[in-house]
Amino acid sequence: LDITALILDVDGVLTDGRLYYGPSGESHKVFHVHDGSALKAWRSRGGHVALLSGRDSPMVAVRAAELGIVEVRQGIDDKLPVFEDILSSWGVRAAACAYVGDDMADLGPMMACGYPIAVSNAISQVREVAAFVTSLAGGYGAVREAIDHLLQRIPS
Ligand SMILES: [Mg+2]
Repeated sequence: LDITALILDVDGVLTDGRLYYGPSGESHKVFHVHDGSALKAWRSRGGHVALLSGRDSPMVAVRAAELGIVEVRQGIDDKLPVFEDILSSWGVRAAACAYVGDDMADLGPMMACGYPIAVSNAISQVREVAAFVTSLAGGYGAVREAIDHLLQRIPS
């Protein structure tokens, strides 16, 4: 296993999937500090990171900027072609990429990537195709757990 790139869904993976609404629309998202520190560790080892979201939210752009994640694609209905586009921009083969997802829209990238990971709260179809299922749920450190899992398999 030689994974050098990590692509993450956002809602249900970096968050618990709940959407917080106020009178003027989605008002905030809740991220977990453990995921942020692990993403920084992954990047500091030279790993690529991208966020690939079906929704479009300014909160995601703010959180990504805080973590130094440059590759952020939002409002994506069909994730597979965008997943492939991100990989080609990095010059990374799909076999060297892990993808973390929780819902139907993630199945395309999960089946195309080298190491599909499901969060514990993922729907059963997503858990069934995963090589690894986290014990923690999205929004509660699942991405930290996924990265720890990947890092212990990659010689430092
Ligand atoms: Mg999701």
